[in-house]
Amino acid sequence: MAVQKNVYFFGKGKAEGDAKMKFVLGGKGANLAEMTNLGIPVPPGFTVSTDVCAAYYENKNKYPKGVKEEVEAGLRRLEAVMKKKLGDPNDPLLVSVRSGAAVSMPGMMDTILNLGMSDKSVKGLANKTGNPRFAWDAYRRLIQMYGDVVMGVDHDHFEEVLELVKKNKKIELDTELEAADLERLVEEYKKIVKKYAGKDFPQNPLDQLWGAINAVFGSWMCERAIKYRQIEDIKGLKGTAVNIQSMVFGNFGDDSGTGVCFSRDPSTGINEFYGEYLMNAQGEDVVAGIRTPERISTLERKNPAIYKQLVGIKNRLEKYFKDMQDMEFTVQQGELFILQTRNGKRAGTAAVKCAVDMVAEGLIDKNTAIMRVTPGHLDQLLHPMIEPKAQKEAKPLTRGLNASPGAATGRIVFNAKDAEAWYGRGEKVMLVRKETSPEDIGGMVVSQGILTSTGGMTSHAAVVARGMGTPCVAGAKSVLVQGNTVDIGGKMYKEGDWITIDGSSGEVYEGKLPLVAAAISKDMNTFLKWCDDVRAKSVRGNIKGFDVRTNADQPDDAKRAFDFGAQGIGLCRTEHMFFDKDKLVHFRAMIVADTEAQRKEELKKILPLQQKDFFGIFKAMEGRPVVIRLLDPPLHEFVPHTKEEIAELAGHLNIDKDKLTSKIDSLIESNPMLGHRGCRLAVTYPEIYDMQVEAIARAAVECAKQKIPVNPEIMIPIVVTARELKLLRPNAEKVLNKIFTAAGVKVPIHIGTMIEVPRAAIRSGHIAEYADFFSFGTNDLTQMTFAFSRDDVASFLPVYLSKNVLDVDPFKTIDEDGVGGLIELAIREGRNKKADLKIGICGEHGGDPATIDFCYRAGLSYVSCSPFRVPLARLAGAQAVISNSGKIIMGGGSGKTKPAAASVKGSKNPAKGDTKMAVTSAKKPAAKKTAAKKTGAKKTTAKKPAAKKKTAAKKPAAKKATAKKPAAKKKTAAKKPAAKKTAAKKPAAKKAAAKKPAL
Ligand code: PEP
Ligand code: MG
Repeated sequence: MAVQKNVYFFGKGKAEGDAKMKFVLGGKGANLAEMTNLGIPVPPGFTVSTDVCAAYYENKNKYPKGVKEEVEAGLRRLEAVMKKKLGDPNDPLLVSVRSGAAVSMPGMMDTILNLGMSDKSVKGLANKTGNPRFAWDAYRRLIQMYGDVVMGVDHDHFEEVLELVKKNKKIELDTELEAADLERLVEEYKKIVKKYAGKDFPQNPLDQLWGAINAVFGSWMCERAIKYRQIEDIKGLKGTAVNIQSMVFGNFGDDSGTGVCFSRDPSTGINEFYGEYLMNAQGEDVVAGIRTPERISTLERKNPAIYKQLVGIKNRLEKYFKDMQDMEFTVQQGELFILQTRNGKRAGTAAVKCAVDMVAEGLIDKNTAIMRVTPGHLDQLLHPMIEPKAQKEAKPLTRGLNASPGAATGRIVFNAKDAEAWYGRGEKVMLVRKETSPEDIGGMVVSQGILTSTGGMTSHAAVVARGMGTPCVAGAKSVLVQGNTVDIGGKMYKEGDWITIDGSSGEVYEGKLPLVAAAISKDMNTFLKWCDDVRAKSVRGNIKGFDVRTNADQPDDAKRAFDFGAQGIGLCRTEHMFFDKDKLVHFRAMIVADTEAQRKEELKKILPLQQKDFFGIFKAMEGRPVVIRLLDPPLHEFVPHTKEEIAELAGHLNIDKDKLTSKIDSLIESNPMLGHRGCRLAVTYPEIYDMQVEAIARAAVECAKQKIPVNPEIMIPIVVTARELKLLRPNAEKVLNKIFTAAGVKVPIHIGTMIEVPRAAIRSGHIAEYADFFSFGTNDLTQMTFAFSRDDVASFLPVYLSKNVLDVDPFKTIDEDGVGGLIELAIREGRNKKADLKIGICGEHGGDPATIDFCYRAGLSYVSCSPFRVPLARLAGAQAVISNSGKIIMGGGSGKTKPAAASVKGSKNPAKGDTKMAVTSAKKPAAKKTAAKKTGAKKTTAKKPAAKKKTAAKKPAAKKATAKKPAAKKKTAAKKPAAKKTAAKKPAAKKAAAKKPAL
């Protein structure tokens, strides 16, 4: 058996790894290897793999056999290349020890610099470099970092002493400290370590090295790293790698420096070299935001040769990786080294601009561009901005760096804990700090915006805020935090005061300025049109395209969604049209009516109101399909509750208050979500749906007469049996015919249904007989499949998530195995009945990217979501098409083509890897068996053996196909028998139908 390799060397123009190995070497290690191979100046070193991290945790913080030897061999090789030895009292090698997972987690894990310094080697370094100040500074930095990260001594203890020394010397900057001061500091720091850690700072360099490696692996599971992975939904990684690399020094004097740069502006995406640096500084000084760095453009003047070399390297790296690069560099006595390159994190604006520009430059193709922008990026772009007129009139208090775009208003809090506490009380908060650090992550997540007084565009606050899409103004120098007050541009504010920030301009304002939704920019428009193109051209069996519709109930919502690119309305909840006070009174009167005559009287008043709204919606959608769902009001939401409301309605109806109260009491339901709602209302009171259909027909006629294109679709909710549709569909058709005949105009109107009750999903083949289309109401389908009340789930769902009973909130992302199984079944049965049945989704899940991917794989014709999520759904839909291309094999049902709903889980999300695939496919036959049993239990016992025989007979063939074909085929093959089972059932089902309709 091959021995597992744990350590990968890079240096002298050759590396054992490369960029493709990021799951083994971490992003940093893989790219260091790649840059070494490219001949870019990278300090030599070696990477301990992520497999070691995984094994370390599996073995209760012990390393597997051989790792120790491999690491120490790596060190000897590095010493040979550098011609120096770690801890050498004359000319010591110093190394950095850094973390680096496959997915970048900026600032979340630990780093140690200058490792190898000791009481002996500090003198050697001083002699060798002729620069004692530098040597003592390097040593005191190591003790401080190592003491904090490895030995658990609070960073503040060191800072206090440092501040005291500076105060006594009456100096402000660390760089003003002399060698003797630093030597004294080293003594003080060692005492601090001894006092707080209970042991001495280790003098043996190998002890130092293993201490640092342990700490870096340990930091993979530290609280902030775990929290970051939760927030960013980073799953499925083995752990972090550890990079041990020869040190280069940016604090060697004024011909040295260190910086961070981006090949394009990470905030705007503009193609100009962007970055910051500090002269005579080391490592994390730029990122930590302690000193405000200089813009990279000034380096051109200060050191033109280095600047030119740096520009050359960034151009080369961007071309090579075909993406915007985020690089760290150090200049040591006039020599340039690149310490890291990675694809740069970017704000939404930048993501779209980079994608569009890089296609124009021929660097990437459109599909790559589409995969580069995340739905979260687009979400950011739809973040509010300050209402332009209000912004013009307001005077900014101050201006900082426009570190993360979008505007926010919130109440000032000064630390992360308070931010979380205030947020917990339902407050909108603005985190105002001198600088942020990784410990603040929890508070940053819950803040509307972040304002800092130090740090640049690459400071912790800026990078993290951009990643999260939270507006941020950083480095606003005239923001002076003093305890629980802050001076902003000369005015004092205290905790709880409202301020507004504009992360796009860097401005800070007093108070709560009005915010408005952002509009779609030219670049975004271009980009989204590419997405539309990809979706329009997609083909799954006989399903062409994958549309994005919207859920809208009012003409102005419809207009907004249309402007955002909605291709139709997938759900107009007609009960929402009555929230308006003037309409609500009639609606309530209709609900409490005692007789049909009274109800009809109120319905007469409602009809023109509905007609007007329908007309407005049809007009806004310019002929695109508009699905109108007939009334589905959970009654408890609409009856009057307060004494005042009851009195008002009694007045309107001219009846006694007590009589009205007892009528209302009689309408109270124990389980209103399972109560007298949806089509049940129309079965009992047909006149209600009749009125709505009439309003739709009249509005359609009005459009037709005015030559406004119109395409309504009527949808009947909460259907559980085909018999409901069998009863209600002819009612609707009768009303349509009546209105059209009278008007002398006929508008084609489809009548379909929602599949939102498990029984309806199971019986969808029968339901399809009476429906022109299906739309999955996944809110109710989830509620009823899980038996989790959608209104009360908050009392236990967070615990389910934290205890991993569930991976995700099933009301947000579809539960593929359960609810998804019902959806797949319904699609298959529905399309077996009607091959070209149009099927969509209109539950809230329709705007969730992971669900959109599922919907595409399952064979849905469209998704429908709220207007603000439409751009995001346009992108997520295109990404589903691209990432599943070549994997989906499906027909449109009808049994003529291959089975529909081949649920092939993409490899896009490593978290949803093979294990889940196996679970899903393993479960499917069982699900089908259940369905088969149910039918059989009633009257088709004779069918069962036959169906089983057929399935069994097919299996060998399926296996043969599996043996030949790759994974995607395997899954399809696995489904085949079940599909055949359905087909096999058909004749028998028909026979049964001849006796009594199975509904
Ligand atoms: C649903 O149940 O998913 C749906 C869209 O209907 P509603 O949310 O109105 O019940
Ligand atoms: Mg519903």
